[in-house]
Amino acid sequence: KKNLIVFGTRPEAIKMAPLVKAFEQNTAHFETKVCITAQHREMLDQVLDFFEIKPDYDLDLMKPNQNLYSLTAGIIENMKPVLEDFKPDYVYVHGDTTTTMAAALAAFYSGAEVCHVEAGLRTFNKRAPFPEEINRSIAGRLADYHFPPTDRSKENLLNEAILEESIEITGNTVIDALLFSVNKLQQQNYSDAEIESVQKVVDTSKKIILVTGHRRENHGEGFVNICQALKTIAENNKDCQLIYPVHLNPNVQKPVYDLLSEVDNIKLIAPLNYPAFVWLMEKSYLIITDSGGVQEEAPSLGKPVLVMREITERPEAVKAGTVILVGTNKEKIVTETQKLLDNTTYYQQLSKLHNPYGDGEASKRIISFMKSKA
Ligand code: UDP
Repeated sequence: KKNLIVFGTRPEAIKMAPLVKAFEQNTAHFETKVCITAQHREMLDQVLDFFEIKPDYDLDLMKPNQNLYSLTAGIIENMKPVLEDFKPDYVYVHGDTTTTMAAALAAFYSGAEVCHVEAGLRTFNKRAPFPEEINRSIAGRLADYHFPPTDRSKENLLNEAILEESIEITGNTVIDALLFSVNKLQQQNYSDAEIESVQKVVDTSKKIILVTGHRRENHGEGFVNICQALKTIAENNKDCQLIYPVHLNPNVQKPVYDLLSEVDNIKLIAPLNYPAFVWLMEKSYLIITDSGGVQEEAPSLGKPVLVMREITERPEAVKAGTVILVGTNKEKIVTETQKLLDNTTYYQQLSKLHNPYGDGEASKRIISFMKSKA
């Protein structure tokens, strides 16, 4: 049977890379090709380099200030010749991006069966986050096979009348990617120029607070509040260093560089390649983020996470205690960070919690399930 794995952004690439690698080991049952839409460009290419993945098709769709209308139309139109050329039996999409939704629709038009990795996450509010909630819901309707990471996400699918036999709980493939990376970083002959340059920025005499943020729902007022909170945390804790790889989206770059460039214990740096980011997560004391992937990865490294979002499609993490939702409220971000910095017993409790997102075997589970269907 023929597999086509499609992705377009950095987080999708990180989370699909382990599946691509695992299918490369399974050529007896499947012929697998990779198609990237390149909804992101630089941040995506870095991931491909690290995981040594050479896409078979590159739609190269990233444009400055791209909007959802032309991106969606471009993906559907440009997927057509790829689908007609390769004629896949199965098309794999991931999560909740515009690539996910549009590629799933194009695959459906072609008659291929759609496999949705990281299925079943829901906020139950179709406008929040925008457009992710609607992207993943549409992908869920189009999909023939669903790979939710947790019991909870499976439950969401069953509540939408998805057939149980089409669902397999796998854990999240991001843990597969993380463990692969941690392992690769430990290899003696591994070297990476980006890790070396971030090592020069990190002040090892200080507690490192790692920050990331990119979500559309936080653009505008949200990022202004976030930046004010980070400034207060930095000023009140001179024994800490905040390191912030700033996402390339101009709506993020502007407020962050305008408000935080002058604070001496905040270092604003370019987005890091995946190995350097993993290296920095390991070196951090705690992480403040609005990222989905980072909150799934961090508990596997024993790092508490404050999540700067008002709503979440990842309630498992909040329930497990690995994540504390702080929204974009300045006081809350400052208070919860201070509590983790000051209260060692509390910090240690959080850093020992079990990760609800899995054990690093998600890709293997997807492959055995697909073998049973092929
Ligand atoms: N990441 C990275 N470099 C960075 C920041 C994040 O490689 O400078 C990785 C991170 O480890 C995680 C993924 O990118 O696996 C998360 O991406 P992002 O936060 O952009 O998206 P989300 O997970 O919210 O969809």
